Amino acid sequence: IDPAFYLGIDFGTSGARAVVMDAHEQQLAETRYTFGNNRDRTATWRIALFSLIRDFPTELRNQIRGIAIDGTSSTVLLCDRAGNPLDQPLLYNDDRGQAVLPTLQRIAPPDHPVLSATSSLAKLLWWQQQSHFSAARYLLHQADWLAYLLHGQLGVSDYHNSLKLGYDVVHFCYPDWLTRLAIADLLPSVRVPGEAIAPILPSVGEELGLPPDCQVCAGTTDSIAAFLASGAQVPGDAVTSLGSTLVLKLLSHIPVENAHFGIYSHRLGDRWLVGGASNTGGAVLQQFFTVEQLQYLSQQIPTHQESALNYYPLLKPGERFPINDPQLQPRLQPRPSNAVTFLHGLLESMARIEAEGYAQLQALGATPLSCIYTAGGGAANTAWSQIRARQLGVTFRQAASGDAAYGAALLAFRGC
Ligand code: ADP
Repeated sequence: IDPAFYLGIDFGTSGARAVVMDAHEQQLAETRYTFGNNRDRTATWRIALFSLIRDFPTELRNQIRGIAIDGTSSTVLLCDRAGNPLDQPLLYNDDRGQAVLPTLQRIAPPDHPVLSATSSLAKLLWWQQQSHFSAARYLLHQADWLAYLLHGQLGVSDYHNSLKLGYDVVHFCYPDWLTRLAIADLLPSVRVPGEAIAPILPSVGEELGLPPDCQVCAGTTDSIAAFLASGAQVPGDAVTSLGSTLVLKLLSHIPVENAHFGIYSHRLGDRWLVGGASNTGGAVLQQFFTVEQLQYLSQQIPTHQESALNYYPLLKPGERFPINDPQLQPRLQPRPSNAVTFLHGLLESMARIEAEGYAQLQALGATPLSCIYTAGGGAANTAWSQIRARQLGVTFRQAASGDAAYGAALLAFRGC
């Protein structure tokens, strides 16, 4: 019988990647696309999508049974009735929604995840005040629009992308306070991530060499795709992302919401992915060291000894999680003359913050931490892993993949 392959596509901030896997979850091939600086973003995304798929060998493409796409969370587009973007998209970090936050605070319940200047809903309410809004028919996330180019159904999203649009993932509906608003007609219908939406459009399937029965599935966000890629699966499993900032994600039986600490939960089937983000992380390391220095200095750290240096590494004042203090000052003193000793103190302090973060999630009701997978630029640092293992006292496992596109492919495989 014919083999069945699954395609996952990840749209990140600077580029996109795609992975094809087989039914044993083995990665068979990968393609990449770098965005460059074309000002017309949606045109670039469309080109990237088609070129990522076309770059796989024909014999892989024509056995693909399912496709899922992840995009950056809260990157949104306003489309007309034909699915054409009316405007440039608003990117994940665009905070012009600040202007409508007071309005949003009046209509949404306290502590709701939409209450942020960058949320999808804040962006939609900002758009509502712009002159071209009357032609708008659909609000779509990046992943929704890209999937639409493949399956042709307008107005479809998933419950990961739609969390910050206000979708209620407990009751599987939009809440009344949202459906009462004038913008309610633009809200997409929401599916389970990975669920098949429709087969590939015949014309697109022919153009890309995909079989006519290839299903295009509901997608997810880039950070959830990265979580799935790690292989974390049971409650108590967590992924720590050691990127520019420190991001914790813990799989839990129970959801945890806490606006004070910026903690919210994504639904993952009948489980919850509880997340918190600290402002400490690799960006602070980069302020003092190059990547090469980080590598060779780390190798000289006596990792079995606990550093007595107690820092709070931040680029600028202010922290949200695990301590909420908008005025919290970076603490980087005393600074030893020996660079290895200094780096040891930084890594040890970040490991303490990580441990405190998981303790915080647990104290708020999340399933206790039992196993950590690591993602991001700091994941390759074995000295840091040893320090973290000592501080955290749980099992550390190697991630199946560090590539969000692999997580999206898993979603397509499991969903189909
Ligand atoms: P992001 O996507 O959040 O910008 P990445 O996951 O690409 O970040 O990771 C980049 C970060 O990783 C940088 O801030 C850098 O300081 C850190 N980093 C890179 N190599 C190492 C290393 N060997 N040890 C510790 N941190 C590292």
